[in-house]
Amino acid sequence: MTPFSFERAEKASASAGVRYLGGGTNLIDLMKLEIERPERLVDVSRLPGDIRESDGAILIGASVTNAALSADPLIRERYAMLSTALLSGATQQLRNKATTGGNFLQRTRCHYFYDTARACNKREPGSGCDALDGHNRFHAILGASEHCIAVHPSDMAVAMAALDAEVRTITADGEGRTIPATDLLRLPGDAPERDHVLDDGELIVEVRLPANPPARQLYRKVRDRASYAFAVVSIAVALDVEDNVMKNVRIALGGVAHKPWRADKAERALEGAFVDASVFAQAADAELQDAVGRGDNDFKIPLVRRLIITALRDVTDLSKEHSA
Ligand SMILES: Cc1cc2nc3c(=O)[nH]c(=O)nc-3n(C[C@H](O)[C@H](O)[C@H](O)COP(=O)(O)OP(=O)(O)OC[C@H]3O[C@@H](n4cnc5c(N)ncnc54)[C@H](O)[C@@H]3O)c2cc1C
Repeated sequence: MTPFSFERAEKASASAGVRYLGGGTNLIDLMKLEIERPERLVDVSRLPGDIRESDGAILIGASVTNAALSADPLIRERYAMLSTALLSGATQQLRNKATTGGNFLQRTRCHYFYDTARACNKREPGSGCDALDGHNRFHAILGASEHCIAVHPSDMAVAMAALDAEVRTITADGEGRTIPATDLLRLPGDAPERDHVLDDGELIVEVRLPANPPARQLYRKVRDRASYAFAVVSIAVALDVEDNVMKNVRIALGGVAHKPWRADKAERALEGAFVDASVFAQAADAELQDAVGRGDNDFKIPLVRRLIITALRDVTDLSKEHSA
């Protein structure tokens, strides 16, 4: 491991050149592999952080653990798909350590990123991407570039994107800013080494969930094993149904892109439409019109199509009506 200085934060403040340590469940592994080499590490996992209501919105401290967030009564009641998404990730032991801030900023699980003998533009800019023509079963079908086809692995971030969460930060010059969760992580373009839009030393302090989320919510994760496996693909759906018409439709997809993929084309196809299986199929097709497979991951395109359709059937209760 490369030498580094370590300090424990006493209060939430940001400094250039610093890397923050949450639960360490991703960063420490990457430091051991020397893929990450921070010179100055500041532990923010013990900063005071809680989950509280403010004018109907929910504020979540960045140091709140995934376990605490998933179990919180307000989250379970009003933002159930966030609780489901969190509980589908990792293990209870990992969730006890992993923090809200760290979960957003965890790095890809692309095996070429972890294998330092292989070319990876994310790990070493300009070195190439062995995943393009390699084993790419887990890789992106939307928003990828010729430089990187890695996907973001978080379940939590997918639910946060669909819930229109906002991430509040402090920059190194002491300014506060608010970033929509859908914009926190970025597509690879020609700079896949940059996972997110935060500046050097910018600290996540809080996440805000807006009041009055849609009443019907669902998070579904497709994976190779029933537990302790990253998503092959996943979906978070939230919507309301009034007089059989869909409203406030929000959909995000996981395991398909370098960031949680807000399915805005599908949302537009569904908003204001009657609950109807053919509309679900049109929405899925609209979202996937630009999807591109790289060989091993071609199967994700029909899989995501089916996932969108079945998730919509279940969240609108159409399946129950049909089977009644
Ligand atoms: C075996 C295993 C299985 C897993 N399975 C899943 C899974 O199925 N689904 C899933 O979603 N995840 C899974 N994970 C990943 C796990 O959820 C993440 O490792 C965890 O959420 C990261 O949180 P952390 O607090 O430990 O982050 P850390 O490892 O401490 O940090 C991660 C990154 O976030 C930065 N950071 C941390 N806090 C802040 C802050 N407040 N402000 C700015 N930057 C910050 C760090 O500098 C670092 O770059 C798995 C992990 C393991 C080891």
